[in-house]
Amino acid sequence: MKYHVNETCIGCGLCVATCPAVFKMNDETGIAESITADIPAIMEDSAKEAQEGCPAGAIESV
Ligand code: SF4
Repeated sequence: MKYHVNETCIGCGLCVATCPAVFKMNDETGIAESITADIPAIMEDSAKEAQEGCPAGAIESV
């Protein structure tokens, strides 16, 4: 499982707070981005929680 943050991100930072191992803010664009590698199994629950909590629906599973 991988995640991708699309252009509808509003930069609220919730995903970074929920799962900082997978999501981080891009200081230049002001929006979030995810690690490009497959999510380690141990992080899948918190990454999914971040996806479900995103107020913009900007986190896609790929
Ligand atoms: Fe962007 Fe959603 Fe993360 Fe907020 S929770 S920073 S809107 S991807």
